[in-house]
Amino acid sequence: MAERPVAPGGIVGILGGGQLGRMLALAAAELGLSCHTYSPDPKSPAFAVSAARTVAAYDDEASLAAFADAVDVVTFEFENVPAATLARLAHKVAVWPRVASLEVAQDRLAERRLLNDLGIAVATFAPVATQSDLYSALAQTGRPAILKTRRLGYDGKGQALIRHGDDPHLAWRAIGEAPAILEAQVRFRCEISAIVARAGDGTTRTFDIGENRHESGILVETRVPAAVAPEVAAEAAALAERIAVALDHVGVLAVEMFVVAAAGATRLLVNEIAPRVHNSGHWTRDAALTSQFEQHIRAICGWPLGDPARAADVVMTNLIGDDLARWADFAAEPGVRLHIYGKSVSRPGRKMGHVNRVSPRRG
Ligand code: AMP
Repeated sequence: MAERPVAPGGIVGILGGGQLGRMLALAAAELGLSCHTYSPDPKSPAFAVSAARTVAAYDDEASLAAFADAVDVVTFEFENVPAATLARLAHKVAVWPRVASLEVAQDRLAERRLLNDLGIAVATFAPVATQSDLYSALAQTGRPAILKTRRLGYDGKGQALIRHGDDPHLAWRAIGEAPAILEAQVRFRCEISAIVARAGDGTTRTFDIGENRHESGILVETRVPAAVAPEVAAEAAALAERIAVALDHVGVLAVEMFVVAAAGATRLLVNEIAPRVHNSGHWTRDAALTSQFEQHIRAICGWPLGDPARAADVVMTNLIGDDLARWADFAAEPGVRLHIYGKSVSRPGRKMGHVNRVSPRRG
């Protein structure tokens, strides 16, 4: 932890220049802080709202050293930043969250082992290091099962479904024959996520639980409140807090879960941990007293955490690929807050923006 908080006027360094970095930079600006974004991609959407930028590779030692000298604290906005980059920076400047939080989220197997150690349930899974592991893994999970690369998967990428009658080798080839886990396909009632912020002094604040709908592995919509019983929401929040404490995490952490019906009761299975702000928390920008982005900046800068209370009911819808063509319709719709990421090229499956449809709080 920085000895003293990063006060207004300070500079936050962000590794990664996507929409999450852009929204972090906007939130930092509202607190009188400015951001220096470091990204290898000269077209990074975060650059347009950052006071300073570095365009360089994550292993460019000279650029990393200059970046560390130029900022008061460093964070990251996506989990595929190499852990070695973070470790190198941590010798020179405060880095939050810790490298350990990043490492656990970079490897699905490490993530599941941590959850197992904490006694937190996950879908039945087995590691698959080589093609010959596939059959013993399938014997454990049954079919249908999903083969997921251990590393570098996101938005459903690096995943292949193995149904009854499918040749498992095709799935192995589809994921690039990379070290993987095989996981039973869960018949869930719904998907939810808990977003918790943890400060350096151990204080935690958790946002209301969101209910998520995915299509082809990509988040399409988050609704808050989630249609789950209060005790399920409380359990989801408690799970996320336990994970944040176990990692000694500083910053925002998101936990995606499956809600499953089990013998008349409801069980939660954790699917994924993200040690950062998360797409399923975008609703907080318009319906919570403190957004997840501001909360993350507060946590890493050593400020008191903000009040996460929800002021309204909200449905967040991602604008994916061509959805953005309808921007003028969204802009004219009552009760809608429109957020566009400023990406120069639209591609199918690419997240271009989101809308928050806000209505008076009923739930
Ligand atoms: P992931 O990249 O692991 O977060 O997966 C993206 C989405 O794919 C999830 O949010 C689910 O909608 C679906 N999915 C992933 N794993 C499973 C599973 N084991 N069973 C059912 N659906 C899954």
